[in-house]
Amino acid sequence: MISTFTAPNGATYEAKSANPTDDVLARRLKKGIYRYEDDELYKRCSRCKDYWPADTEFFYQVKGDDGLNQWCKACYQEWRYPNGRKAEKHENKEICA
Ligand SMILES: [Zn+2]
Repeated sequence: MISTFTAPNGATYEAKSANPTDDVLARRLKKGIYRYEDDELYKRCSRCKDYWPADTEFFYQVKGDDGLNQWCKACYQEWRYPNGRKAEKHENKEICA
């Protein structure tokens, strides 16, 4: 499962997909961490609980049993840069659904 992506600046790169062992894959499909949809493997971010394509376009590459971070890139960025340009300070505890 190797796909090539074209960035807005025209550069192309290969997105590496998760490469779990059959054992790990079976366990995680059962747990709901992975799921198959339209023949694509999706991985659930353990922070936002959303499913994203299990490749390096959506997850940072790490050393591990499937090669991808547990958190999606967006969550990682949010955690790493809590006061980033897009992040708002959580002074207002009101939750908008
Ligand atoms: Zn996330």
